[in-house]
Amino acid sequence: IARPVAPERQGEDAPEASFRPLSLEEFVGQRGVRDNLRVFIDAARGRGESLDHVLFFGPPGLGKTTLAQIVARELGVGFRATSGPVILRAGDLAALLTNLQPRDVLFIDEIHRLSPAVEEVLYPAMEDFQLDLIIGEGPAARSVKIDLPPFTLVGATTRSGLITTPLRDRFGIPLRLDFYQPDELQGIVERGARILGFDLAPEGAEEIARRSRGTPRIAGRLLRRVRDFAEIAGTGRVGAAEADAALGRLDVDARGLDAMDRRYLRCIADNYAGGPVGVETLAAALSEQRDVIEEVIEPYLIQQGFLQRTSRGRMVTNQTYGYLGLPPRAVPPT
Ligand code: ADP
Repeated sequence: IARPVAPERQGEDAPEASFRPLSLEEFVGQRGVRDNLRVFIDAARGRGESLDHVLFFGPPGLGKTTLAQIVARELGVGFRATSGPVILRAGDLAALLTNLQPRDVLFIDEIHRLSPAVEEVLYPAMEDFQLDLIIGEGPAARSVKIDLPPFTLVGATTRSGLITTPLRDRFGIPLRLDFYQPDELQGIVERGARILGFDLAPEGAEEIARRSRGTPRIAGRLLRRVRDFAEIAGTGRVGAAEADAALGRLDVDARGLDAMDRRYLRCIADNYAGGPVGVETLAAALSEQRDVIEEVIEPYLIQQGFLQRTSRGRMVTNQTYGYLGLPPRAVPPT
């Protein structure tokens, strides 16, 4: 069963396309990122040049794909999207690049998952708008250079540390997205409700926002589920109480944590005396992949002060003991 609070894209998220803001003005939150993009986009447009390459990094569901589309729209150019694991060979990338129109945006999601051979081809393409390809094999092999139209590469990755230094250095505009504030999420939920024609009171929107883990994708998903419950129950306008009841049935608690989060925190508190415990050990104990733990479960728990990553491993905080209803631990962490 899919977690309602998982930040990655799920099959049932297809309707989220209808929530996508289409301009920088409509995009809520990420103030600093928006202000910077506004300036760089206007400057590039003014000069009639392609925008410098942009790298978005930040946890899943915060709006990287949405912003990439907005960048293309605001530049008034075409938009092509692909993702790192899909580009298997250098030739696949060459085909994409040679089909671009001048100044187009090419969006590569999960850009840290490009193979080294494909990355090599990307370097001269990004720097000089040139493809260096080897054609043929053995003694007959020869290298050809192909000029590309100037284009803007927009890359997205969940953590900047995952991307190789030579690739990162070729992005002129690196931008970091952070979790959203509750009032920003409430704005996003209210906007989504309007689009859905769903009668949601501000208090209902606030309740959904508070449990959305700072993530618009989760906010949109919880909004659609709350609407389902409200429709079936035949409740008219949905306020805080109705939203709370629906979210309770989804097992999303008042802090936005679900059973998976609690299992993770409990494992450290109960089995490892609060930590420190290494991520590999936790992965084995919980039968979860290390990536999932590091990229999906932990960022929100850290941001909310439930967890600390130290050089010796993961540790839960005093707040976690209170949250889990456990007595504070006898010996404070040293
Ligand atoms: P990412 O690429 O970072 O995983 P997406 O761009 O796919 O995230 O966004 C996930 C969902 O959240 C989309 O439906 C998008 O419309 C919505 N969304 C993201 N950021 C915002 C925002 N600032 N305002 C309104 N909706 C947003």
